[in-house]
This record gives sequence, C-alpha cells and structure tokens, in this order.
Amino acid sequence: MTITEKLNEPETDYCFETLALHAGTSADPVTGAMLTPIYQTATYRQEAVGKDKGFKYSRSGNPTVSALERRLAALEGAEFATCYGTGLAATTALFLALLRSGDRIVVSQAVYGGTVRLLRQTLAPFGVEAEFVDTTDANVFAQALREPTRLVFIETPANPTLVLTDIRLAAQLAKAAGALLVVDNTLLSPALQRPLDLGADVVLHSTTKFIEGHNATLGGALITREAALHDGFLFTRNTTGTIQSPFTAWLTLQGVKTLSLRMAQHCENALRVAQFLESHPRVTRLVYPGLQSFPQFELAQRQQSAGGALIAFEVEGGVEAGVRLMNSVRLCALAENLGAAETIITHPVSMTHGAVPPEQRAAAGITDGLVRLSVGLENSDDIIADLDRALRETEEAR
Ligand code: PLP
Repeated sequence: MTITEKLNEPETDYCFETLALHAGTSADPVTGAMLTPIYQTATYRQEAVGKDKGFKYSRSGNPTVSALERRLAALEGAEFATCYGTGLAATTALFLALLRSGDRIVVSQAVYGGTVRLLRQTLAPFGVEAEFVDTTDANVFAQALREPTRLVFIETPANPTLVLTDIRLAAQLAKAAGALLVVDNTLLSPALQRPLDLGADVVLHSTTKFIEGHNATLGGALITREAALHDGFLFTRNTTGTIQSPFTAWLTLQGVKTLSLRMAQHCENALRVAQFLESHPRVTRLVYPGLQSFPQFELAQRQQSAGGALIAFEVEGGVEAGVRLMNSVRLCALAENLGAAETIITHPVSMTHGAVPPEQRAAAGITDGLVRLSVGLENSDDIIADLDRALRETEEAR
C-alpha cells in the first residue's frame, strides 16, 4: 500500500482511543511529517480568480483548525464541528446563529456563570428571553417549553452543583416543542458522555477543559450531525470573527490524543478523593456522580460512563471554613479552571459564578460555602494528604 493509499483509508470504524490519535489528520504527503503543521498564515494564494484550494482567509477557515474540527466531530460521533477562540465564543456564535429578537431559550438552572451573564446581560437587551428552569423536574421543564421557545440549552453535569439533566428526556421534550436541544458536554467530554447519541442536536465544548487538558489554551467547539446547522455556525463564526487560532488548534490536537487515558485516571482519582471527603467528619455535604450517595446516581449510570473529575462539597463552619480550606491547600491550586492535569480548587460564588444573581444561585443550590474540586492526575494519595491537612487547619481555626 502506498503512503497516499494509507492516508486515504477510511477512519470511521476505528474505536474512540484510535480516533483520538488519528481522526482528521494524516502524514504530510510531501515530507512525511507526522504532525499536522501549525498553518500560521492570514491568507492563501489563489491560482486564478474563483479558484482556491479550499481556504481563502484564516477568519473563515484554517487547515490546522479544520484538522481539529474533523477529530472532534469524530469523537462525538458527528459529521461537523466548528472551533472558536474560547468556549464562550462558541456559546456566543451558537446563540447568534439560532436566536432572533423575540425568541425564547430555556436553560437549565445550574450552568456555567458566563453562560448566564451572556444571556442576561448581553443578549436580553437584543430581545432574547432566557428562562432558567429546574430541568430535573419533567413537569416544570415541559411547561417552560411554550412558544416561542427555539432553543433548549442544558449543561449536564452542571457546573458547579453537578446536578444532572436527563438528555434523552430533554431531547424528547425539545422535539415535541419544535425546539433544538444543545448540550454543554464540557464537564465530561465525549470520552464519558455522547449527547448526540441520546438525541441532542448540538454539542458545545469549552475545549479549554478536558479536551485540551493541560491548562495551556482557551478554546471552544460546536459539533452537530446537521449540515444546515453547521452552515449557520460557519457563517456566524466568519461574520463575528470568533475562529480559533491555529496554535491553539495544534496544542488541542496534541492534548486530545490522551483524552481517554486522562479521563480514566481523573475518574479513578476523583472516586478515591470523593470517598475520602465523604467519610471526613469536617465535610457536611458532598456530591460526586460516581458515588451511590449521589441523588441522581441511577441517571448518572445510564447516561455517562463514569463519575467524572469534579466534586462539590461543603465544610462544617460554612463560608468561613470553606474559604480557609481553599486558602490552606498547597498542592491543589486555587484557580478558575477545571479539567486540567493539575488539581484545581475553586470558590464558585466569588469566582466562576459571581455574575449569577443571588436568587438564581440560591435556586440552583450554589451556596456561599460550596467548594468545587477538579481532581487532576497527581497521585491521589498526595491530593488526599493535601486536603486532609487543609481540613485540619479549618478545625484548628475554630
Ligand atoms: N461551559 C462550561 C461548562 C464551562 O465551565 C466554561 C468555563 O468555565 C465554559 C463553557 C466557557 O468556556 P471558556 O472559559 O473556554 O470561554
């Protein structure tokens, strides 16, 4: 078999781990270079007027970004993907492509704070009405889907409460209401959950998190099986200038190669850390979808293949004790991110969800003392020792 024949082999029937390494890229036919280059170029020389090689200007498309798009589409079991400069740029392009003045969007009550801020503070003045509802209650959810709802946007598990929404049910309800279902799959990645297989129309990712996985980039993606939706996303990305940079796409192509391995280790570590915290006398409340004590454990088992890397908990002594814990950790980094190789501890109320109105935070269960932990890839003994010492310091401060 020649190199060209090998390069043209169909890749659709490979397993997930193989796709994460190979989908969307092939060795360069001229040099044999294994990695897709960073096509750092603004424009593309055309052979004649109206005759190009598929790329015209790097705001509308770039070969390195296209390679990442092919790979992400393959990992979500889709045909199409578009990549953006950040996760929120992807969310912005999604809303601008699909919503018009006078439309309604129904959103799960607990979602990333930036999504709430975008809808409440940037899009509401343009006449887009967003309603945040308890999507765990099928009746409340169904009643919210009245005309003129165009879009249902859910995040499951939700950041930071880890509350789940039943994706299959959400897809049925959205379809019956004539609306599209979008799932923000950032907290699990396609290695642990595949919303399109459960009936969603679009998957959104902040690739900043597990997909790139190394705290090195900001990026976003919209993934779909529908050509018409994809065309709308491409158009909106071009008109708003929100495309991802080729360097970010290149780093993400490398990061995503180890997605399965990383997610397996994230989950193993998170389960151990969650078990440790759950049995700790200073921890008053803990949620982790991989534990039987998780209120939606049965749903977690049904729609995701493992518990994930995130844990939410509260410490005896409320806000003060939680803050002391977050200030006392040494190995875990106090920071605003999740899904990285390093363990990150976050105070949602003052950090990621500060822009969510207090009433919505209260309704969504985002309490002032809530601590979010994104368990990384360190040895879990070291993470546990760090938390144990910091928890003892909260006791001593009483
Ligand atoms: N979606 C979720 C679930 C997130 O947690 C975040 C960021 O924390 C975003 C979207 C936005 O992504 P980005 O920070 O890459 O803009």
